[in-house]
Amino acid sequence: MSDLLKQSIPGIIADAQRFITEPAIVERLSRDFYWYSPVLRRQLEGKHADAVIQPVNVDEVREVLRFCFAHDVPVTARGAGTGNYGQAIPLHGGIVLDLSRMDTIHEITADGVAVCGPGVRLGVLETAARTSGWELRCYPSTIAKATLGGFLGGGSGGIGSITHGGLRDFGTVRALEVVTMEAEPKVHRHEGEAVHEILHAWGTNGIITRIWLALTPAVEWSQCAVAFDGFDKAYDFSERIANDPRWTKRLVTTFEWPIPSAFYPIRNICTEAKDLAFFLIARDQLQDFEQEVRNVSATVTYSGDYAGLRTSPLLSDYTWNHTTLWAIKQDEAFTYLQCGFNPDSVREQFRLLKEKFGEEILFHMEFMKNGAGRIVPGAIPLVRFTTEERLLEMIRYCREIGVFVANPHVNNVEDGGRFREDNVQLAAKRRYDPKGLLNPGKMLSFQPAEETVR
Ligand SMILES: Cc1cc2nc3c(=O)[nH]c(=O)nc-3n(C[C@H](O)[C@H](O)[C@H](O)COP(=O)(O)OP(=O)(O)OC[C@H]3O[C@@H](n4cnc5c(N)ncnc54)[C@H](O)[C@@H]3O)c2cc1C
Repeated sequence: MSDLLKQSIPGIIADAQRFITEPAIVERLSRDFYWYSPVLRRQLEGKHADAVIQPVNVDEVREVLRFCFAHDVPVTARGAGTGNYGQAIPLHGGIVLDLSRMDTIHEITADGVAVCGPGVRLGVLETAARTSGWELRCYPSTIAKATLGGFLGGGSGGIGSITHGGLRDFGTVRALEVVTMEAEPKVHRHEGEAVHEILHAWGTNGIITRIWLALTPAVEWSQCAVAFDGFDKAYDFSERIANDPRWTKRLVTTFEWPIPSAFYPIRNICTEAKDLAFFLIARDQLQDFEQEVRNVSATVTYSGDYAGLRTSPLLSDYTWNHTTLWAIKQDEAFTYLQCGFNPDSVREQFRLLKEKFGEEILFHMEFMKNGAGRIVPGAIPLVRFTTEERLLEMIRYCREIGVFVANPHVNNVEDGGRFREDNVQLAAKRRYDPKGLLNPGKMLSFQPAEETVR
């Protein structure tokens, strides 16, 4: 395949430098953060593509897909490769289509919509948006590296979701264009509800080449870290701030001790044996907020202005799935779950989990607004991994007591917990990738149409 591709490259992309076969680079660009999961580490170790192609425009994407369709070559889209579930790891070789060079911000419209290529880094977009009075509604803690296309393909939400919900909520993704994997690849535009046919499909049903992303007016933010005597107090306070509409906020995160002991660059703001909470609060509310902290006899261990991504310390670097990264750095035995607790019985759910699993599970909460507009306690708890069976037992028990789990230890769209029950992602795959060549093996419910199988 590589030889055939090599010969054909001049007709596919303008610059042969953007066709990479050097094994070390191909292997690096075939990996993501799948190793967060001990289960996926075992399953996916050593999988890689045969070559990487880096298109710079939609015409090149179409040419690559035309060639790959004709020769039955699998294609796995890649943004920055920061996904945690092996989403961007090719299971059957072929091409990694690295979209990071399609990184143009075409326009930020007067009414706050960013029109972008898929390779735009979210950090670059946040900075550009802020210079014109806007900011991202929500972003992952990997904002500095992650691309917008990868966020749409594999992400869910993050900082900002407390106010604006997840990426898929409230019309945040206004529209997108996607290229199909057919004999004659086409560009289709999806608008409004139709974006859900493509979002969070792990690049299995089309290559996103342009995005219209709704922004929100920029706010001057302050960061604040607060230490509490006990997780219950930390949780109660966080929940109250999260639910009180009086506070303009971008982040409410709660950590059970000893999680903060892993945050070694900011140990000076993490008090030994105290549970911790991080907040991004509107700057003009900071004084009142600190008073609120004193009212509950908690301690502000740090507060300061947020001045963009270069702010130091940047508290969001320790939240969402970065928390897990710090914990793994401290002790490789840690892994994680992605949970949604029930706001009406969350304390009972905490109690049951602690009763059954004790220190095997450590609570890390991230408050967010759900699609119905309710603030809910999301969580990315740390888990001390022993065996796969024990991990499955914990997942089963969570579900038994009404805690939703989006399982991060599986390598397919359906079991990851964000597959649409109305099957619109699957229906789009049938239309746009009839042979099943886009990231094959990741959408299990898809079977190629018989006439396409040779
Ligand atoms: C430390 C850490 C913290 C994280 N925190 C968060 C968080 O807070 N919130 C969150 O949602 N996620 C989080 N993640 C996961 C990940 O960083 C985000 O989902 C990120 O947005 C992925 O972007 P990427 O460019 O790296 O995508 P990649 O990993 O390159 O790709 C992700 C998926 O999208 C597909 N894809 C990429 N580009 C395209 C395209 N143009 N068209 C179609 N499909 C495409 C890929 O095939 C893959 O299946 C975290 C991960 C780590 C390691």
